[in-house]
Amino acid sequence: MTNSPHKERTTRRYDSQILAHATIMMVDDEPITMEMVRIYLNDFGYRNFVLVEDSATALHVLEKTNPDLLLLDLFMPQVSGFDILTTIRALPKFKHLPIIILTGSTDPGDKLQALDLGATDFLGKPVDPSELGLRIRNTLAAKAYMDRLAFYDPQTSLPNRQMFLERFDWTLQKAKRYQEQLALLNISLDNLDKVNATIGHRGADEVLNQIARRIEGVVRNSDILTLDHGNDVSEMMLFRTEGSTFSLLLDRIHDVKGAATVAERILRTVREPMQVEGSEIFLRANIGIATFPAESDDRDTLLRLASSAKDYGKNKGGDCFHFSSAAINSLYEKRRSIESRLRNALHNDEFTLCYQPQLDILTNTIKGVEVLLRWKDRDGTFVPPEEFVPVAEETGLIIPIGEWILKKAFSQLSEWHNSGSTRITMSVNLSTRQFVDYDFFTLVRDSVEHSNVDPRYLILEITETLLMADIKHTRGLLQEFKDMGIRLSVDDFGTGYSSLSYLCELPVDELKIDRSFIAGIPDNPGKCSVVSTILMLAHSLRLQTVAEGVETRKQLSFLQDNMCHMYQGYLHSKPLDGAELRALLLPEDE
Ligand code: C2E
Ligand code: CA
Ligand code: CA
Repeated sequence: MTNSPHKERTTRRYDSQILAHATIMMVDDEPITMEMVRIYLNDFGYRNFVLVEDSATALHVLEKTNPDLLLLDLFMPQVSGFDILTTIRALPKFKHLPIIILTGSTDPGDKLQALDLGATDFLGKPVDPSELGLRIRNTLAAKAYMDRLAFYDPQTSLPNRQMFLERFDWTLQKAKRYQEQLALLNISLDNLDKVNATIGHRGADEVLNQIARRIEGVVRNSDILTLDHGNDVSEMMLFRTEGSTFSLLLDRIHDVKGAATVAERILRTVREPMQVEGSEIFLRANIGIATFPAESDDRDTLLRLASSAKDYGKNKGGDCFHFSSAAINSLYEKRRSIESRLRNALHNDEFTLCYQPQLDILTNTIKGVEVLLRWKDRDGTFVPPEEFVPVAEETGLIIPIGEWILKKAFSQLSEWHNSGSTRITMSVNLSTRQFVDYDFFTLVRDSVEHSNVDPRYLILEITETLLMADIKHTRGLLQEFKDMGIRLSVDDFGTGYSSLSYLCELPVDELKIDRSFIAGIPDNPGKCSVVSTILMLAHSLRLQTVAEGVETRKQLSFLQDNMCHMYQGYLHSKPLDGAELRALLLPEDE
């Protein structure tokens, strides 16, 4: 048998986990015996016990607690250990439950009878602690091994369909009790037969194994999942439920968006080519999603819904995820259509840049521009940035698009600077995704060099989220930009959670006060006080301030009174194309 190191690791982890978390039930009419046993077993690391003194309730408790092992006394008033044994072994569910008889009897006839009735092992009273520890451990290890055969898939080491159904029941109950949302993802691999045909069964097993690890990775690294109710981190609920189908239960999602995010990431990770047995393998998946409580509170209905949602997607061309609810789907339909059109947009030259003037608040002269991206798709439909920028970020398309923006914008600025008009600054919006891309600094530096623009006129707009992420890498990178002479601006300031004290530690130069606050001045006292506080703070930290979205004279005069430095907004001008903007620039005064 060749066993991959990974498989061995999961097996071992699984065994020790089973032992430590095992629930041990005892039925004995002498509470003191049970207490002693509990104390001994505590020393061996066991923590979960169910003690039953009244043998008449034993079966009921057994059903409810579903223990891993039962320690059973033989002679008790009311219902005897023999009776309990007989009843338990008649129940299919407990046919294989390990039962150790704990008895003071020395009569061989009693032991024989108990064995006939299905006892697993014996221990004499009074109990010898080390003997007890050993027997329990061995019995549980044997049970874990049997469970492993019965509940785990040998190819992927993932729990199988049987385990899945049990966990699903249990998770559904928990979700009902805590009023949680639950999503079931049916993940089915396409063209696995073809893989079988090309590289054989062993190769196909390896492919499945790699896919299982990739999906686990996606789930483990998902930021959309919250912690479980207990202090434990919930275990991975990924199962291999059929030949080419995995099932994933997400029980800690805030909303269906979380399930969509995970589904999208799984599709992406499956798409990545893999090398197996010297061949490059390309796979695709289809994912169907059913959610509790929105779509059903019944296990079998949810199973059916997820499966038919998967088939629906497959028939529509595959490599996608679908919810079983029409309402949720229509939301994602739009997004999907944006995504597919966006893939070719750069290549088809569908993007343009426009420039919104930023003015000195006292002199009302243009000091700079903010670069804004525009997309007119092939059919001539204008798609607002709010709709496509998030899709570009999620798909990673923002990386090539962002590169195009930088190059185009810098060369535009360089052209203006060389045209004899007064020198203005240029602010470029950056998404976090671009910023964490490890080539980003090189890209900016090369674009600066290539366009021959003076970096002191460049401003990068970053978000509060990026600052708060507090990644060491981020801070270093910000400083590198500063060292180059480029300035940094915090966009949409006030909408995130940046603590003010934090700001002075970071190498930022400018705050842009979010449009939502400006819209409230001067009539909304709350917004007014936010704006004047931000301005005061910025002054004391010697940060430059820009007000976004200024539309009225009243807003402008409030900002003037509160000593804001710059403003941009429809009051002066909408975003303009390059030629329109150029026409507004004054000649350079020597
Ligand atoms: P943002 O960075 O806050 O950009 C300012 C937005 O406010 C722009 O919307 C601009 O057209 C709009 N605006 C300017 N003045 C006014 C005004 O007086 N009233 C109102 N109601 N709106 C005004 P736009 O161009 O639709 O962009 C929306 C968002 O899309 C931007 O918000 C930014 O987050 C993102 N975005 C735009 N271009 C880029 C880009 O090149 N790269 C990245 N990563 N994101 C971009
Ligand atoms: Ca901006
Ligand atoms: Ca903004």
